[in-house]
Amino acid sequence: MPFTDAQIDRYARHLILKEIGGAGQQKLLATRVLVVGAGGLGAPVLLYLAAAGVGTLGIVDFDTVDLSNLQRQIIHDTDNVGLSKTESAAKALARVNPDVKVVLHNEKLDAGNARALISQYDIVADGTDSFATRFIVNEACVLEKKPLVSAAVGQFDGQLATWRGFEKDKPCYQCFMPEAPPPGMVPTCEQAGVLGALTGVMGSLQALEVIKEVLYLGETMAGRLLIYDALSTAFRTVRVPPDPECAVCGRMG
Ligand SMILES: [Zn+2]
Repeated sequence: MPFTDAQIDRYARHLILKEIGGAGQQKLLATRVLVVGAGGLGAPVLLYLAAAGVGTLGIVDFDTVDLSNLQRQIIHDTDNVGLSKTESAAKALARVNPDVKVVLHNEKLDAGNARALISQYDIVADGTDSFATRFIVNEACVLEKKPLVSAAVGQFDGQLATWRGFEKDKPCYQCFMPEAPPPGMVPTCEQAGVLGALTGVMGSLQALEVIKEVLYLGETMAGRLLIYDALSTAFRTVRVPPDPECAVCGRMG
C-alpha cells in the first residue's frame, strides 16, 4: 500500500535510513506484536512500537492502573487511575499514532490461552514480573515458532534477551532458566522497589530489539543475554547456549 502524505512525514526519519526505508516501514506497518504486561517495561515498549508504526499491537494485562504504578509506567497517567491498564494504554497509543491498531486482551495469560493468543501475532515482547507467566509465554512461543524479546528488572539492574528456541542452534528462556527460583528468592518490584527510569531503559532496549527482529537488522540478541548494572552504569553481554536437554525446546529441530 502506498504511503499517505501524513505517513511520509510521520516516518521521515525511518524512511531516510537505508536499513529501514520504504520497504522496512511497510514491514513494520504490517507487523503484529503482542506485548505481555502494560507495566514498567510494557509502557516504553508499547509507546516506541506505536511511534515506530508497528501496525498492530496486542496488549495482555488484567490489572487496573494504580497510583503506585505512575512512578515508572509512563504510558498511564493520573487521570486513568482505576481504569484497566489495557484501556489506559490504548488511549495513550491512539494519541501517539492513529495508524496503529490496538487489540486489548483484558485477561490473564495462562497455559490455557497462551498459544491461541500468541498464534495471532508475529513476535512477542514479555515484560511481566512473574516466573510462572514467563515460562508459559516461552513455551507457547517455542511451539508457535514466534521470537520472544524478554526483559526483566531488579532494583537497580536489568536483563534483556531474545529467545528463538524454535531454531536448532538458539536457546529458549528455559534453556537459560530450567526452573523458577524458589518462592521468595527473587522479590517482585512491589516487595523490593525499583528505580523507575530503569524500566524505561530496559523497555526501550526491548522495543529496539523487537524492531531489529522484525526487520532482520544488525545482530540478533538470540543466544545472548544483556545485563545492565544501573548503579555502575555498566552493560555486559554473556553467551547463552541452547540446552539439548531443555524440557521445552530440547526435542525440537
Ligand atoms: Zn530451551
